[in-house]
Amino acid sequence: MILKIEHLGIAVKNLEEANRLFSLLLGKESYKSESVESEGVTTSFFALGESKVELLESTRPDGPIAKFIEKRGEGIHHVAFEVEDIHAMMTKLKNNGFQLLNDEPKRGADNKLICFLHPKSTNGVLVELCQEIR
Ligand code: ZN
Repeated sequence: MILKIEHLGIAVKNLEEANRLFSLLLGKESYKSESVESEGVTTSFFALGESKVELLESTRPDGPIAKFIEKRGEGIHHVAFEVEDIHAMMTKLKNNGFQLLNDEPKRGADNKLICFLHPKSTNGVLVELCQEIR
């Protein structure tokens, strides 16, 4: 079961500048910054009620975020849905013809297990499933 929109992921060129801009826009400071080396990103989170905004900066020139910005510019990169049971959801979606980008959940930022769905199978939207690590 999908519980809510956990966060929106936004690809940025410069995390420091984007942090300043988004704290001005949202009227609050980022509550956490975290690098996920396996994904080649540094992230910064803003809490907004039930959901969050995640800013993503590439840690290397050939990382997925750098490639995304090269192709499409800065902007919304993915939508993350929180799920109760990521393994069950992955099996269900796979059986319904969605294309998963990984077979097993990976460890993401913010104490989450995550899995991405290929945008080709979701109307061009990169979808992240995430489940809190309990
Ligand atoms: Zn995310």
